[in-house]
Amino acid sequence: MDEKGRFEYINGKKVGVILNFDLYPEKVYKEDFERFVNYQKKLSLTGEVWETYFKFYKQIKEFKEIPYGIFRDYSFSFFSKIVFELLKNNPGFIVSNSLNIQIKLIQEEDTFQYRDKVSDAENACFYGAGSWFIQLIVAPFFYLKHIDFNYIMRFLLHELTHFIDHNEGKLLWEKRYKYKLGELMKNTRDYSLYSPLFFLYYSMFNLREEGLADFVARMNSPMIEINMGGIKEYNKNLDKLTKLTNLEECRNFYEKDIGWNNLTPSGEFANGRFMCLFIALYVAKRRKSPYYINLEGKNIFNGYQFKNLDKLLSSNRVIFISNLSKDVINEAITYIRPTAHYYFIRLYEGCCKNLGISDKNRVMTEKRFYKLKKQAIAYAKSERKGRLGKEGFRYIE
Ligand SMILES: [Zn+2]
Repeated sequence: MDEKGRFEYINGKKVGVILNFDLYPEKVYKEDFERFVNYQKKLSLTGEVWETYFKFYKQIKEFKEIPYGIFRDYSFSFFSKIVFELLKNNPGFIVSNSLNIQIKLIQEEDTFQYRDKVSDAENACFYGAGSWFIQLIVAPFFYLKHIDFNYIMRFLLHELTHFIDHNEGKLLWEKRYKYKLGELMKNTRDYSLYSPLFFLYYSMFNLREEGLADFVARMNSPMIEINMGGIKEYNKNLDKLTKLTNLEECRNFYEKDIGWNNLTPSGEFANGRFMCLFIALYVAKRRKSPYYINLEGKNIFNGYQFKNLDKLLSSNRVIFISNLSKDVINEAITYIRPTAHYYFIRLYEGCCKNLGISDKNRVMTEKRFYKLKKQAIAYAKSERKGRLGKEGFRYIE
């Protein structure tokens, strides 16, 4: 095996970080590097922006080739440094006496992903795109002698949260429901009844699974946003989803506008994160632990019980929360982690009720979800009825 590894003891536990280059030989690296350079040059012409792509074109005129050996050295030494640093500050992620964080480098665009199918308590396995390492670690250091450690930390915190969820048996969608709903869809010759439902449920599970991961990832950010515009848009998109009647259409719409391809405030990652934040605000209130609310760059509140929160949410698109104590965040996580699907929404709604947040300002409610579900079925039925009726046939239930 072609790999680089380093081991350290943290709180008496042996931790390893291993980068595996089997699928990422020099030839593959060179292709990715060329793509990276071309992209950077194109950026300088179009000014197009993509979040994970660092905009080197402003600072660098010429992209001197980075040798494969340096790519490997930088990737490994900086990445392992960040992981050890992260684990020292968050030892809760070390779930066994000997934990190996294994990353297999692959050729794909910009991905860094937890692999639940192979991982166990001793082996947290990930796929990491070589282009991810080029973008975030190797090129920034080679050309600018600067790496955005916080940004990378966020990625890792997110993916390690999936590892913990998986290790504790909390990734229920993958484990049970995806299969169940998939079977239901296979049993009908007309997918139109079930395809919107499949993605509706998928999104509900992701509110918790991706939401918590994203919340944890932002634990150290100085400010965390609540974006009401994003919440409304997310709900609008779920409503649209219930009116699609074709599996492919559903999948495309879901992936692009609701799921992982939408990392803006209207995506399910962000919406799940907002829900976690409200749960944390409830914890802060109960613990009498003060925090700040910021609006348009101004600090408008410092305390633990903001009476006009609901009003504020009704009349503003974006507000920011800052200075939440680490104890508050950790306590919120311990409430959130054991919940899934409906239970997560229920926990969230309980906190909203306590904070005086009205139905219309909530990200999701049990009632609303049930309504969406009913609406999806009703729409599919009426679509069939109409289609049959037009040709003089009858719809039989
Ligand atoms: Zn994720």
